[in-house]
Amino acid sequence: MQQFNFPFVATNQEETQLRNEVRSFLKAELDSGGYQPSADCWMTAASPEFSEKLGTQGWLGMTWPKQYGGHERTTLDRLIVTEELLAAGAPVAAHWIADRQTGQQIINFGTEEQKQTLLPKMAAGKSFAAIGMSEPQAGSDLAAVRTKADKTATGWRLNGRKIWSTGAHLCDHMIVLARTSPAEGRNRQIGLSQFLVPLKTRGVEVSGIDDLSNHVHFNETLFEDVDLTEDALLGKEGNGWAQCMGELALERSGPERFLSTFILLEQALTVLRGKLDNQGLITLGQLIAKLRSLRIMSRGIARQLAQGIPSDTEAAMVKALGNAFEKEVVTATRRLLSTTPTNEWPAGLAALLDDAVLKLPANTLRGGTTEILRGIIARQLGMR
Ligand SMILES: Cc1cc2nc3c(=O)[nH]c(=O)nc-3n(C[C@H](O)[C@H](O)[C@H](O)COP(=O)(O)OP(=O)(O)OC[C@H]3O[C@@H](n4cnc5c(N)ncnc54)[C@H](O)[C@@H]3O)c2cc1C
Repeated sequence: MQQFNFPFVATNQEETQLRNEVRSFLKAELDSGGYQPSADCWMTAASPEFSEKLGTQGWLGMTWPKQYGGHERTTLDRLIVTEELLAAGAPVAAHWIADRQTGQQIINFGTEEQKQTLLPKMAAGKSFAAIGMSEPQAGSDLAAVRTKADKTATGWRLNGRKIWSTGAHLCDHMIVLARTSPAEGRNRQIGLSQFLVPLKTRGVEVSGIDDLSNHVHFNETLFEDVDLTEDALLGKEGNGWAQCMGELALERSGPERFLSTFILLEQALTVLRGKLDNQGLITLGQLIAKLRSLRIMSRGIARQLAQGIPSDTEAAMVKALGNAFEKEVVTATRRLLSTTPTNEWPAGLAALLDDAVLKLPANTLRGGTTEILRGIIARQLGMR
């Protein structure tokens, strides 16, 4: 049985300085009406203009090599920027996936040409990417994907259907997991490959799906005889499963897994400050203690990733606990505020609360369901 590893990482002065820089930038944006804070901002609040501003600040592709438009900063610096953006409910959804995982996948597995063509635009906030893993019959059971890519004289022909593709309507590329050769007996993880698919290509159709809150932020993506050049293959043919698992570790390890609803708590406190009874104070204290613990765990993961230490199980743990925390924030805030909005509520709080409630069910599904994450953790504990 292996142990979990969450090293404690102390803060330092440079970090505080970076945090203050991001806060000043966000305050100026907010004051000038640049955005309206929202819950779940990293998935549903997209503003390509805002993403470009972050690119200009040097806050996208922060850890990537300078030769590809990155800034060669630490994973902790990146964590600080992402924490501040999430805590402020800023409109970061457009670039989120490219910055969090697609860029790093390209750095890890891409050809020189893929790196030179795509990464600088992503780091500038001018090119966005989507995740093409799930299909109607393949969610938790990802190895069941049916999308397939067949070799042709000039490259590959892609056919299939992806679902829940977040932001694909704004993106120019999607990393698609597809079958390139048959499974070997019961081992379905064999024969899968990843492709960097340009979405503005003949045969690709992206259509929006309404979520519970009436937003279109995810899509169904259809691939019908899409001809891809040879260099659309990302990494090695047949290595798709292993590559995908690495991508999922990037996807699960960030603070967005516990900060999606933080903005709600912060805004509610403008009404609640000084008015909570003992029970209310206990509830608030518990939330803050949990948040502090999750942040310490998240910083530990960032440090480990920087040192090249795999942290998949630790990331699964933060996501599972973080999703439970996000839900508690909404439940507790609803209880602490009166159920009917009063004149004291700041503008936007009622809408923020409604929106957070409607978006909440998605949190424990996206990026791997709680049951699947618990399975990963149980395996690490030697329980299965
Ligand atoms: C908001 C949102 C955004 C998303 N964005 C993307 C995206 O950009 N790209 C993408 O590819 N996908 C995306 N997804 C899809 C997401 O990854 C899947 O929804 C998720 O993996 C679950 O798959 P499923 O929906 O098919 O549910 P299923 O896998 O059918 O699961 C249904 C239920 O059964 C449980 N279950 C399944 N298998 C097991 C098991 N072995 N043990 C115990 N319980 C089990 C699950 O926990 C769940 O409760 C997104 C989903 C959401 C909600």
